Amino acid sequence: MSSIDHIDQQNKLANQIRSNQVKEALEISLNAERSARAINYKAGLASSLETIAYCYSLTGDPSAALVNANKSFAIYNELNNTIGMYEVSNVLGRIYWELGDYPSALQCTVDLVDYAHQLEDSKREAIARNNLAVLYSGQNLPHKSLKELQKAIQLYRENDDKFEEHKSCNNLATIYSDLGSLEEASKYASLALDYFDQPLLNLDESIREDEKAKVLNTLGRIYGKKGEDQQALKFFKQALESSVKIKHIRNQHISLADIGRIHLKLKEAEKALPFFEKAIDLAKSIKSKKELFEYYLALSETYEMIGDSKSALIYYKHFFEENKSVFGDEQDQRLKQLEIKYRTESIQRESELLTEKNVALQGLADELDDEVNRKTAELRTTLENEKSLKRTLALALNKEKELNRLKSNIINTMSHEFRTPLNAIIGYSEMLTEDIEENSDDSTIYLDDISRIKKAGRHLLQLINDVLALSKVEENNPDINLSLFSIESMLTYVIEMISSEIDKQNNQFSLINKLTISEIRSDEVKLKQILINLLNNAAKFTENGEIQLTIFESDKDEIIFEVKDTGIGISEENLEQIFDSFYQVENSLSRNYQGTGLGLAISSRFASILNGRISVQSKLGQGSTFTFTLPKL
Ligand code: ADP
Repeated sequence: MSSIDHIDQQNKLANQIRSNQVKEALEISLNAERSARAINYKAGLASSLETIAYCYSLTGDPSAALVNANKSFAIYNELNNTIGMYEVSNVLGRIYWELGDYPSALQCTVDLVDYAHQLEDSKREAIARNNLAVLYSGQNLPHKSLKELQKAIQLYRENDDKFEEHKSCNNLATIYSDLGSLEEASKYASLALDYFDQPLLNLDESIREDEKAKVLNTLGRIYGKKGEDQQALKFFKQALESSVKIKHIRNQHISLADIGRIHLKLKEAEKALPFFEKAIDLAKSIKSKKELFEYYLALSETYEMIGDSKSALIYYKHFFEENKSVFGDEQDQRLKQLEIKYRTESIQRESELLTEKNVALQGLADELDDEVNRKTAELRTTLENEKSLKRTLALALNKEKELNRLKSNIINTMSHEFRTPLNAIIGYSEMLTEDIEENSDDSTIYLDDISRIKKAGRHLLQLINDVLALSKVEENNPDINLSLFSIESMLTYVIEMISSEIDKQNNQFSLINKLTISEIRSDEVKLKQILINLLNNAAKFTENGEIQLTIFESDKDEIIFEVKDTGIGISEENLEQIFDSFYQVENSLSRNYQGTGLGLAISSRFASILNGRISVQSKLGQGSTFTFTLPKL
């Protein structure tokens, strides 16, 4: 193969792959350029320089691209190669556009149309006019753009180039949309979309989805402008799907933001939020700075709409940071506005919270008030009840006192009236007994009867004495005669008083005196009465047994008198009642024993008058122990 053929082949290959495999194309072209230069193969050199220029423009080096393109153009011009000049002008137009030199870009593109004419190549003319339209549109000359696009479409149709035709239709739709001719716009955009419905579309997936996304995007914008937002949403979502399919990140974030904007327009800020957030993520990942700041602004507005001015401020700050150099006072002003708004809202929120707390506290205070009032009322009622209760009680007490007094009066009078004749009866019956015993005549047969009279008289006297004593205690004015007296003489008296009763039933008596003192201060008569009563009971309810009086001092400055017997004992259920007036265990039984049922009642009253107490421990059939505790004075 000749060198020329080889160079031609390399150039052809580089030309084919230059859009998709830029680096490889550049390498091949650079080789071809060297080879062509070596053999001074001008056509080959021009072709490789053209591809090199194109590749540099794609790799972001427009200056290098421009140098190579100009060189290529000069050679084609020299060779009078119009096709070549057309191709290089196409590349040059692109480079100037990238460099921002719109007049030169426009000039190149106008030339392009001219070369196509010269070549009578309608397809090339269509491409040229389409490019021209894009440039006009960029220069804000929509009407000129419109005209060129209409011509381009016409020419593509003539050539049956549906792929390019759809592209121009899409461009035309955009221009119409910009001009506000929305019906025309949607007509052309729909035409462009129809292209993808062809059954045998022989297109690479990445190009197909990319182009389709562009058309869907245009449609979305048009319907958005028309106010048919749901339809717009549908198109944007489809565009997003296409971009996701081919992993085209930039188009993805553009579609996401478009969806977000529609939601925002529909005042669906909550729905817009995730779309803007995702758009920002993607834009950040590929450093799409131009869009990123727009998204920040949109997200800030979204948050503001939700009422989250804190987040709104954060994203406005991001937006502001990205554009500080570009924008000036207006944004500054807005930032301050947002900051003030956020602060105001925060303060408002706090004050609302405080108000809430206040209300809650007020509620609590009210409840407390109610509770206090309720309790006070309750207390008042209780107090009033208590007062009236006290009044009633006082009245009752007074009544009782009065009754007791009357009772005592009666008893005192009665006792006196009873005691005199009784003493006479007992005295005369003793005298009669003595007389009969002395005479020892027939009258002895009366001795038993007289003895019964005497016994009954004594019992009656005892009863009267006991009742009298008890009534005195209950009247609450017992006389207390405190004196210091000898314990021993007191005991001697007591034992003397009970000895006959003890002997009567063949009982043994013992006294154990453990006291360290010989005298005590108390009411001697009452103390004697208590001991006599307890010992009398012990003797009365014991037969052939033992009776023991033990006296000792406790740790607590008390003197304890313990009367223990081995008699009949008292059952548990009766223990509590024996101290009641007139209570005697078992009436039938008590008939066997003398007594009035008042002894213990009197004794325990006396004990409490002396600040002491009487307690009992007993077991039926085993005996009893009565304990009298007397505090030392
Ligand atoms: P009484 O004059 O009947 O003895 P008390 O008041 O002295 O009256 O005693 C009340 C009752 O307690 C007695 O009738 C008797 O049933 C019972 N009682 C008192 N002391 C004893 C005792 N040491 N042993 C058994 N029972 C007793």
